[in-house]
Amino acid sequence: MVSQNQVINSVKEQNRTILTEIESKKLLEGAGINTVETRLASSQREAVDLSEQIGFPVVLKIASPDISHKSDAGGVKVGLKNKSEVGEAFREIMSSAKQKYPAANIQGVSVQSMARPGVEIIIGMSKDPQFGPVLMFGLGGIFVEVLKDVSFRIIPLTRRDASEMIKEIRGYPLLEGYRGQEPANIPFLENLLLKVSDFVEQTPEIKELDLNPVFAHSDAAVVVDARVVLEDEMRVKGEV
Ligand code: ADP
Ligand code: MG
Repeated sequence: MVSQNQVINSVKEQNRTILTEIESKKLLEGAGINTVETRLASSQREAVDLSEQIGFPVVLKIASPDISHKSDAGGVKVGLKNKSEVGEAFREIMSSAKQKYPAANIQGVSVQSMARPGVEIIIGMSKDPQFGPVLMFGLGGIFVEVLKDVSFRIIPLTRRDASEMIKEIRGYPLLEGYRGQEPANIPFLENLLLKVSDFVEQTPEIKELDLNPVFAHSDAAVVVDARVVLEDEMRVKGEV
């Protein structure tokens, strides 16, 4: 298994600060945070082979250090049920990304297992000039983008912080299983927030973190998309 340091060092060596989804998920897995199985395919053939290994349905996404908003680039295809759908999705993703980002360095596509539907949540971390690292929690999609229904706590979180920040969002009833929908496992989400808090505390090189979305289920929760941004090297060393 690739260690967290290996991932961070290789990104630094390439003079990058934004990690790809695959790199971000490797870091999270190293911190004991559950992510959907995600593997890099550099050719159509490889994408098909990996899909068969992972098991249908799968998701294909553009894998490029230069494209971090993958859907905007036509770079996400979900629910691919067989080899021919995977092949077609590979070709469409590649041509759309090359057209929209002609200068991008494209590694290929990531092949992922398709997470079953759940309540979509987001967990974010950014650094406040005054308070330092701050954790954000909210429900995905319109809840964050339109309603700004989110809660914040300063890292490190206490268990009480984790519990409160989940309960205080207005959308909390959705997590309890609104109108027969599968409820989220609240203690599991509290532990997830605490794990993210620990991970951020132990990895000062991280400047920003965006787990968007995480699918919450009644037994667990799984990170479906992730983006980690590192501090500028010079700043970490105090040279600027
Ligand atoms: P973006 O870079 O545009 O944020 P995402 O990886 O978040 O791309 O994918 C867009 C959407 O596709 C997600 O919000 C989620 O609803 C769905 N999705 C992505 N990956 C998966 C997956 N592995 N399983 C199920 N749904 C997924
Ligand atoms: Mg996303």
